[in-house]
Amino acid sequence: MKKKTKILLIYTGGTIGMVKDYKTGVLKSFDFKKLLTHIPELAQLACSIKSVSFRKPIDSSNMNITHWVRIASIIEKQYDRYDGFVVLHGSDTMSYSSSALSFMLEHLSKPVVFTGSQLPIGDLRTDAKENLITSIQIAALQQRTKPVITEVCLYFEYKLYRANRTTKINAEHFEAFASLNYPALAESGVHLKVNQENLLRRKGRKPLFVQKQMDNRVAILKLFPGINKEIVRSIFSATNLKAVILETYGAGNATTEDWFLKEVGQAIRNGIYIVNVTQCSGGSVIMGQYETSEALQKMQVINGKDITTEAAITKLMYLLGSGVSSKSFKSIFETSLRGEMT
Ligand code: ASP
Repeated sequence: MKKKTKILLIYTGGTIGMVKDYKTGVLKSFDFKKLLTHIPELAQLACSIKSVSFRKPIDSSNMNITHWVRIASIIEKQYDRYDGFVVLHGSDTMSYSSSALSFMLEHLSKPVVFTGSQLPIGDLRTDAKENLITSIQIAALQQRTKPVITEVCLYFEYKLYRANRTTKINAEHFEAFASLNYPALAESGVHLKVNQENLLRRKGRKPLFVQKQMDNRVAILKLFPGINKEIVRSIFSATNLKAVILETYGAGNATTEDWFLKEVGQAIRNGIYIVNVTQCSGGSVIMGQYETSEALQKMQVINGKDITTEAAITKLMYLLGSGVSSKSFKSIFETSLRGEMT
């Protein structure tokens, strides 16, 4: 008889794990041990499901590195016992956490699917059931006893995305996420259609290694017309700052005002890595295409290409935490490590 696929659900918090008290209208946390009572459909899935929960489930606005390490450590500890992992997480910072995990879980060979919902699982019109059930099905997909998906992904509203390509784009619609620079990995309609050609191919056979050092001495500086020198200088001169994501306009363009270029140049001479990431949700930085990005290119600003801000900031934390040398930092950042850039 075929062995049942084993899935571990990791509940961290967020709207998905709430139920509505219909008498009072109040949303309250739901006891994950009673998962089957709320979603009896889970019993029909051809896999065995166990769950673990954060002792204190959190709203994902409170997520931090310690929580990422906790999720990663659970996966590390249970890695050999399960065929796939589903992480239930609030949608607000899901793109950040799942991007972080995509870097932290080196040589991943099993699916890790992040999901959540816009409405609580106990709400009549909830999107939680579909998101959860299909995420479990995706994590359980196997071909010749091997997992079909071997990367960290995010499932929401009928689409499976590469996690480090996503951004939360809507606080109201069920379709809350987009992956503008990379196509969906799978789509759920009448059939569950996996787009094999978009999946990350595993290179080598090394065992899972979890990088738990994430360095948060980083900042995001979003440009806007009228930005002033004092603000820019105060960010670049923050104590112990190691790296900055410069959110630029369009294809990586920034003001060419003298004071600005001087501040960037000085920051680089002070050993701070500066990464050029576009403010646009889709498209890519093309350094040197316009005069307004040429100066940045000449100063050796790192090219973020078509990476999302969420992936860029967590990649910085990961590379700084991994102790990558200053000599190779730029070229490693500009290399796609987990399919996060084209
Ligand atoms: N504020 C919630 C959170 O991110 C929203 C959600 O779960 O979708 O935890």
